[in-house]
Amino acid sequence: MSSLELPAGKTSAFVISFDFDAEEVWLAENPENANRPGVLSQGTYGAKVGVGLVLDTLDHLGLPATFFTPGRVAERYPDQMREIVAHGHELGHHGYTHTSPTKLSKSEELDELLKGKAALEQFGVEVTGYRSPSWEVSPNTFDLLVENGFTYSSSMMDDIKPYVHPAHKVVELPVQWMLDDAPYFWFSVGSDWNRTIRSARDVEEIWREEFLGIHGLGGLTMLTMHPQFIGRPSRVAMLERFLTFVKSHDEVWIATAGEVAKAVK
Ligand SMILES: [Zn+2]
Repeated sequence: MSSLELPAGKTSAFVISFDFDAEEVWLAENPENANRPGVLSQGTYGAKVGVGLVLDTLDHLGLPATFFTPGRVAERYPDQMREIVAHGHELGHHGYTHTSPTKLSKSEELDELLKGKAALEQFGVEVTGYRSPSWEVSPNTFDLLVENGFTYSSSMMDDIKPYVHPAHKVVELPVQWMLDDAPYFWFSVGSDWNRTIRSARDVEEIWREEFLGIHGLGGLTMLTMHPQFIGRPSRVAMLERFLTFVKSHDEVWIATAGEVAKAVK
């Protein structure tokens, strides 16, 4: 049995994570989007505006975060990457492209893993964490993580507490759609005109309730956001309110994903 060893006085853990996808999520969804600058501009917003607003919010509150970033995004936006690192945040792997591992052969998946890691480590940091694109893993993913020196994954939805994958010495920091901004805020033309965009207030309420529930059970609240969605002005304001609320609970350990992974024994 694995367990999370919290610092003295803390009763639950909280991680602020961002998947800095920029254009890659649209490119992986449909390669023809490479010829649709309007579609891609939704992702460009994350790099151009969202990341800066999110970094300002974290600075105001003095909180650390983990930015899971596809290698091609890191290559396209080196200034933003340097800013993220300079502010003391952690970088995590999120594919080289944003291609789901379920669509890749084992050798293609290995190639994505190595190229993505190299692209991030150019910024002078060690990358030990992996979050699969779209939270999809293949039958080979955990073998490849172990073989390539990764110590944690943050892609599975089967728990509220971190654990060690039984057949692999890799820590899992579980995620959930409820604690992700995309299901509430992602709107894209063509596929889902019937879907409405949720108000920041609604999402704030859902996140507060779920955080309190996980906190009461001594688990890990893994908040997952995307600069292109959370980086809109009304939503960044909500994020500041929500994180201020979380911070007001002294018994919550707010740390990077890497720090929480290290505390799992
Ligand atoms: Zn992503």
